[in-house]
Amino acid sequence: MQEGDDVSSSPWKASVLTLYPDMFPGPLGTSLAGRALEKELWSLETVHIRDFAQGKHRNVDDTPAGGGAGMVLRPDVIGSAIDHVTGEGDTRPRILLSPRGKPLTQAKVRQLKEAGGVILLCGRFEGVDQRVIDGRELEEISIGDYILSGGELGAMVLMDAVVRLLPGVMGKVESGEDESFESGLLEYPHYTRPTIWEDREIPDILTSGHHGKIAQWRREQAIELTRKRRPDLYKAWAQDE
Ligand code: SAH
Repeated sequence: MQEGDDVSSSPWKASVLTLYPDMFPGPLGTSLAGRALEKELWSLETVHIRDFAQGKHRNVDDTPAGGGAGMVLRPDVIGSAIDHVTGEGDTRPRILLSPRGKPLTQAKVRQLKEAGGVILLCGRFEGVDQRVIDGRELEEISIGDYILSGGELGAMVLMDAVVRLLPGVMGKVESGEDESFESGLLEYPHYTRPTIWEDREIPDILTSGHHGKIAQWRREQAIELTRKRRPDLYKAWAQDE
């Protein structure tokens, strides 16, 4: 992004730093996100970390100081790669996908959408030298309490969640508003034709045509589902009510 660029008018831009650039756009090149990419409703820049390695062997990683298993991504290589994609006046958040990060939430997704874009660093091996996390003020974000082999799938998850919210990407504007998490609750159950499937019927209320009662039923279902499945979300929601 150049100085003077108006973040609000240029499309949302993701710059991804990775050792596996061939993984992109991957699943983001099809369906909703892929069509949006073609229509330039967002843009994706993939940068190969190895291009910033020095010396004959172009090493991107080295053994951990203090000993132990595995390898660690070098701060000099990662620092250069980050500086390369950071334009002057570039205010996009710099994010390291990391199991130690704050869990990604729908609220965070909305915030990243508003930020106009992101710089995403995909870790590999044991992780990234702490000095470049501190020195480039990387924000660590986790996509869940499990360990992936690299940050690439995490980066895709994050981008997919943002891109579907961008203007013009989803068919109906309102389809983003009513979903799980947006109200603090999980979503109510859905039904469609056929009316009877394997002796199972659609709940009568949904075919009653009574919009007020349908809305009330859906809300009750959402509350009950959240209470049973996600007591943590339910507690937070009940406190706000
Ligand atoms: N040794 C690290 C795990 C390294 S996994 C630890 O115990 O914390 C290698 C890379 O995969 C990480 O650097 C990170 O970029 C990515 N990764 C793994 N799990 C992730 C998760 N849950 N969320 C986001 N990124 C993850």
